[in-house]
Amino acid sequence: MENIFFANDIMSKISLTKIPGVGTARSTALARLGLFYVADIFNFFPSRYEDRRNFSKVNELYDGYTVCVEGCLGTISSKRLDPSGRRMLIQTTLEDETGQIQLIFFNRFLDKQLAEGAKVVIYGSVSVRQDKLQIVSPEIIVLDNDEQKAKEQIANFSRLLPVYPLTEGLKQSYMRKLVAEVFKLYGHLIKENLPSEILSCRSLMDRAQAFKETHLPNDEKNLNEGRKRLKYEELFIKFSSGENVRRESQKTPFYKITSDSKDLLKNLNFCLTDDQTNAIEEILRDMTTCHMSRLLQGDVGSGKTLVALAVANATIKNGYQVAFLAPTEVLAEQIYEEAKKVAPVAAHIAFLTGKTSKTERKLIEEELSNGKINFVIGTHALFSLTEKFKNLALLIIDEQQRFGVNQRKTLLAIKPTPHLLMMTATPIPRTLTQVLYSDMTLSILKQRPLVTKNGIKRKEITTKIVPTKDVQKLLAFVGSEIKNGGRVYWICPRVEDDEASNLPAVEKRVEWLARMLPMFSVGLIHGQMNSDEKLLAMDKFKKGECQLLAGTTVLEVGIDVSEASVIVIESPNRYGMSQLHQLRGRVGRGSRRGVCILLVRQDELNERLKFFASTNDGFLIAEKDLENRGSGDTFGVAQHGFANFLIADPLNDAEIFAEAKEDAKINY
Ligand code: ADP
Ligand code: MG
Repeated sequence: MENIFFANDIMSKISLTKIPGVGTARSTALARLGLFYVADIFNFFPSRYEDRRNFSKVNELYDGYTVCVEGCLGTISSKRLDPSGRRMLIQTTLEDETGQIQLIFFNRFLDKQLAEGAKVVIYGSVSVRQDKLQIVSPEIIVLDNDEQKAKEQIANFSRLLPVYPLTEGLKQSYMRKLVAEVFKLYGHLIKENLPSEILSCRSLMDRAQAFKETHLPNDEKNLNEGRKRLKYEELFIKFSSGENVRRESQKTPFYKITSDSKDLLKNLNFCLTDDQTNAIEEILRDMTTCHMSRLLQGDVGSGKTLVALAVANATIKNGYQVAFLAPTEVLAEQIYEEAKKVAPVAAHIAFLTGKTSKTERKLIEEELSNGKINFVIGTHALFSLTEKFKNLALLIIDEQQRFGVNQRKTLLAIKPTPHLLMMTATPIPRTLTQVLYSDMTLSILKQRPLVTKNGIKRKEITTKIVPTKDVQKLLAFVGSEIKNGGRVYWICPRVEDDEASNLPAVEKRVEWLARMLPMFSVGLIHGQMNSDEKLLAMDKFKKGECQLLAGTTVLEVGIDVSEASVIVIESPNRYGMSQLHQLRGRVGRGSRRGVCILLVRQDELNERLKFFASTNDGFLIAEKDLENRGSGDTFGVAQHGFANFLIADPLNDAEIFAEAKEDAKINY
């Protein structure tokens, strides 16, 4: 995890092994959580808090409640659960003036510590067994006979306590102790880092206290203030660095591109959508006045490629070079084909992938340095060309979330920095876009082309939920679809069959489909095939040599086969809604209307799938997806290649987002 709170701080160099109680075993476990240095502990935020401040009486207890209770222990019985006595069952009761409740422990060490009549405080959750309330394995402390000491014990025990996400070999109590120790030893080194104007104007808690309240809270009010301050800080730092990049890029020398945005695409037999035209204009306007850095966001099928190609063509006409980067060979090839169609006379296009032969590659490099080639399209192989360009003025990155930030940087290190156009079909909720791409400007394609390439009116994709018991009917539908000229994708979760799970495997599925629909040819595509095999499978499907293609989600990205009209998705719950939406976007791209079928068992049907089936709005789906995943934890955002937040929450902290964003614009 990027250490945004303590980048370059000396505490990010002090190893946790310096702390008493952190030995080899512990430090290995801590490392699994990404905790190596003192600073890491400070920004290892609790995932929630346990409130032990309110005590309950026994007669108030109820099934499912997690409670703190004070009382006396009743008779204690213990029983060995195995011959060695390593596992032991201890049963007793806790009694106060209102009643008694059964306690059960499995901790053999407690056998010696607990005694009948002892005063104790426990914390645990109440359950019901055979109509009786019980608490299994509560935390327990035996109170001292000295009243003063007992008071202290209670005060220590019944607090607002942080709950940390843990891993094997670490206990919650250990983690809490460690955090407290780190604060004792190093807490005083935490320095303020926000401008004082901001602190007073936004009434934010000071930094050292904010960390302390977040980890060792005293009360809710301070805890909330502390967390708010840290959320603000995290966002402010992200926004500011974005602003800095933007400010820098406004100063950087850039290739000036002039163009009137008309007639940039040759041989188009359809009209661009208004959104496409606007995006092209916006991008070109930037390129005449400053260093362009834009994210082109548009739902699947909205026609991003043509926008990029129009801008590429303008750049070429100005006498400069363009590089177009795609995440897979299949996609790169698709772009190459489209580019050749619409390219201006001046364009000399090269295609480069990992498979390009050495000699050919050498030739491409040579012709890039002398400027003969002015447009290169390809995959990751382009990263090694950094030194070879004569005048690279524009870098286009398709499906940008598939590339690492550092990969991007290698090509942007070229001087003068090429204009940057990144594209994504994964709609990102607004709040997230603001932070993640704060150094970029957004262009959005909202509408999809209403007519297809061939001038036929495009229809919305319909999504249907089909129960597995109707699979025969589904097969009949698939058969008639293909007979009528359509083509069908069939998505399965896994490549190989494995006994342990009852999910369908794509290889089995191919055999089955071929058996059930013997009059058609069934193809197979999955991630474990090499890229040649994948290309071949795609090609056959494109040409119609096979009409039914079974595959895993390798199909998800950008594949464009206009005859594809139906996609069947098995076990759709395996995927996030945004991913389902990507998959659905594979069909209905041509003249045939698109149908997406979610094939579900009775127990798999849920509100999420119903919602998904009810809308085609990718942005709405993205927002919902984020909500569903819940925020705070891993949130699945990482899977899209977005930065994760340590403490800020893009769904619930909209106000802090807005404040931090506004403040970051001011150059402190
Ligand atoms: P995506 O935004 O998903 O990358 P593509 O650029 O692959 O979408 O475009 C999807 C399909 O729509 C392509 O076949 C493309 O040629 C076609 N297309 C793009 N713009 C238009 C338009 N204005 N009218 C009709 N078809 C279009
Ligand atoms: Mg695309």
